[in-house]
Amino acid sequence: LFSDLRPLGPEGPFSLETQFIADSDSCKVNLIIGAYRNNQGQAWQPPSLVEAKKRIHVESCLHEYLPLHGSAEFLESSKLLVLGPEITNQAYDRIASIQTISGTGANSLIAKFLDNHTHPANIWLPDPTWVNHADIWKENAPGVDLRWYPYYDESSRSLSFSAMIQTLQRDTQENDAILLHACAHNPTGLDPTKEQWEEIALVCKEKKLFVIFDSAYQGFASGDLDHDAWAIRHFFTHPGLEFAICQSFSKNMSLYGERLGALHIVVSRKSSSPPTASVHGHLAEIQRACVSMAPLFGSRVANEIFKSEDLHLMWQADLLLMSNRIKTMRKAVYDELVRLQTPGNWDHVVHQTGMFSYTGLTEEQVGRLRKEHHVYMLPSGRASICGLTCANFKYTAQAIHSVITD
Ligand code: PMP
Repeated sequence: LFSDLRPLGPEGPFSLETQFIADSDSCKVNLIIGAYRNNQGQAWQPPSLVEAKKRIHVESCLHEYLPLHGSAEFLESSKLLVLGPEITNQAYDRIASIQTISGTGANSLIAKFLDNHTHPANIWLPDPTWVNHADIWKENAPGVDLRWYPYYDESSRSLSFSAMIQTLQRDTQENDAILLHACAHNPTGLDPTKEQWEEIALVCKEKKLFVIFDSAYQGFASGDLDHDAWAIRHFFTHPGLEFAICQSFSKNMSLYGERLGALHIVVSRKSSSPPTASVHGHLAEIQRACVSMAPLFGSRVANEIFKSEDLHLMWQADLLLMSNRIKTMRKAVYDELVRLQTPGNWDHVVHQTGMFSYTGLTEEQVGRLRKEHHVYMLPSGRASICGLTCANFKYTAQAIHSVITD
């Protein structure tokens, strides 16, 4: 039955991770994984998370099923977190929310939901984007064609803004879906300015596109939860624009393996009455067939953080600490490249935001970094800055210098 099946090993980051683990060199550096590491290169538990778990009394808590939509308390708080109190109040009857299997689950659910119910001809993804986006749409929305809008200009290592707007204006059709990264674009680390976001919102509105915000880094990118939600909240100010938010708590709460996320859909006033009820029902129906309901433990931890003012403040301090460490490492490796007089301009390393740097290194240079210096990053040149520490940034800069100059 399975003899024709092509053998398939782990791909992309997962295959590199396996190679990294097998590498016995004592100087090896892991810039692959999109997960926070502390200055010792270790996985880290933010103090807010440790305290929240203490307050849960894990030994005695029950492990019942969540309702199909997930934890109502968590959904209220996560909605408030991303949209802020003003919008949440104004739109209390226009937001359909469901707890999902983290950001991946939210992206998959919205793809399936649109394919089943609103039938967009195309989903427009930024070129480049998080590698999983294309697979998620292929797997979950076979009736929707994958299209790419320009995002990154390789020669200037900046946002390809005019080309992006031109493509959206010229090539999109009414009812197409478009995916936008709410902040800390993965992999480029480049986000539109506020003025550019305003222009993007106008094009989406004029072309009647359904917008999907992928929000995987709120608070983690800048250290400020409101700042990182600005673009999403701005879209709300355009009446008639309907959009979805795929929210992940992997990075900002360090709940990677607990798979905590949410999908929120902001529907327009003109939709059926009560506006959200049918959307809500269909989301639950699809989720039931795929996974029944999202897991409980992560939402329990998050609820603890959301409901206590002291833990919420502690969490904000944790976010600041993580984002500041990343900024410090960006500056450190940048300064070292400048000191070494490594050919090229490295300003982008400090200007990009979030976890990743799109270094501009070629696939061949990335291969040499791995083989000759045991420094691992994605073939696209994407490096996770979280893997840099005070102990390895000089070695990493020297390795980059060597593959460029030798
Ligand atoms: N969207 C983007 C842009 C991401 O970078 C990630 C994580 N790498 C995700 C979604 C989903 O992550 P998770 O499923 O762990 O929430």
